Amino acid sequence: MHRCPDSSVRRPRVMYLDLDLHFSDAVSEAFLDSSATALGPQILTLSIHHSTPGFFPHSYLATLRDPSADRFDPFTLSMPLDRGATDATFARIWPSVERVKEAFRPEVLIVQCGVDGLAGDSHAIWNWSLNDGEGSLGWCVDRICNQWGCTVLMLGGGGYNHPNAARAWTYLTSIALRRPLARDADIPDHAAFPLYAPSFTLDVPAGNAPDQNGDAYLDEITTYFHEVARMIEERMSTCT
Ligand SMILES: [Zn+2]
Repeated sequence: MHRCPDSSVRRPRVMYLDLDLHFSDAVSEAFLDSSATALGPQILTLSIHHSTPGFFPHSYLATLRDPSADRFDPFTLSMPLDRGATDATFARIWPSVERVKEAFRPEVLIVQCGVDGLAGDSHAIWNWSLNDGEGSLGWCVDRICNQWGCTVLMLGGGGYNHPNAARAWTYLTSIALRRPLARDADIPDHAAFPLYAPSFTLDVPAGNAPDQNGDAYLDEITTYFHEVARMIEERMSTCT
């Protein structure tokens, strides 16, 4: 059953966007079908992650689920990406993320900044750069923090190359403060300084792994989220 919020209990709409390599199983499951409560569509979760048989965590929610299915919840969304995802792939899927955001019109944006999808992480699955320009993690977080017009809460997440995780969260914090550090900024001398070899800079560049997210799949994502955004708009239009 679709319900609209009771105006007496109107609360801010919250979008949870998860950029970690792993699916946001706990958060997604916690808010699955929450739009069917008396509060109506108040929370939307979108996880961009890697998913393949055997990859943690297993969840039936971690796929591109059929929007025409009876129990499909357009406020619990999943965008699985294949191995080798680069800045170019993120630049290609980002309009779909923004399409969903514009349909839902969140007032609060919670972004989970897991950095285990960056190049150099021990998972070695994605090939995402921190700050190489359009589509990089820094570019995405800049749009979220400085262009989306939401109140933003940034969270950490996975990140198993510890120097790169420190680089990433330092850089993302500088973006949130609107004082972005240069990608070639020197790492200051400190006890862990040798771990930042060989560059000793803030940069986390992409590697050479092939991007297995082909045109056909990226087109499928675009089409899928366009349809889902229309479903969200339809549900929102009856509630505002
Ligand atoms: Zn993770």
